[in-house]
Amino acid sequence: SRKPLIAGNWKMNNTRKDTIDFLDNFLPKVRNIASDIVICPPFTNLFTAAEKLANTNVKLGAQNMHWEDNGAFTGEISPLMLKEVPCEYVIIGHSERRQYFAETDETVNKKIKSALKHGLLPIVCVGETLSQREEGITMAWVTSQVEKALKDIPSSEVGKIVFAYEPIWAIGTGKTASSKDAEEVIKAIREKIGELYSKNVAENIRILYGGSVKPDNIKELMNEADIDGALVGGASLDPESFYRICAFN
Ligand code: 13P
Repeated sequence: SRKPLIAGNWKMNNTRKDTIDFLDNFLPKVRNIASDIVICPPFTNLFTAAEKLANTNVKLGAQNMHWEDNGAFTGEISPLMLKEVPCEYVIIGHSERRQYFAETDETVNKKIKSALKHGLLPIVCVGETLSQREEGITMAWVTSQVEKALKDIPSSEVGKIVFAYEPIWAIGTGKTASSKDAEEVIKAIREKIGELYSKNVAENIRILYGGSVKPDNIKELMNEADIDGALVGGASLDPESFYRICAFN
């Protein structure tokens, strides 16, 4: 009974005009889709996207935020600013942020707590590198990222979090994890959450797969018992492809 969620992470793509063109094309196509659909444009396009998304079934997310409400943090965006747009979701701890912008499990944890405090729904990314997979430490690494992300988050709040398992070697490479491999890790994440909280919490939390999701592989991924949706990069930039992913066909 977990509602499927398909989120598009546009990363550093699409100008304001591209955003308008995309949504004019995409919104009518997905009008009758029952899953949750979220698009996460760059910060400068959030207000434009919010206007287009008003009274539609598509929700808005940001790609990052700072954990403080305001202050001397040049170049950062606060949760209050995201709420004002309004954004409903925020991606936290994407592997590109961890790799290129020095985000750590500690800052990820601070951001999740701040997002929850402000009523934003965090989409928290975890995943292993290729060398970690080859070393055979995928499960230990990913479940430890989950545990550190959830430090001091009470069970009354944890259900608002969405996790996204994104193996780093599958991002933008055209290499998707097989649906079986993705299912195995996502099941382990759910079990970890069960250990940390309860079976009930674990059964209700949504966990997505991300990494080269395309119209061709979404159906197989969604057929797995523990995969509740997808976090889509490249294929979310094309309205027809992203529509087909949202429709699971
Ligand atoms: P791709 O779908 O382009 O592989 O990107 C995945 C991703 O990083 C989504 O957050």
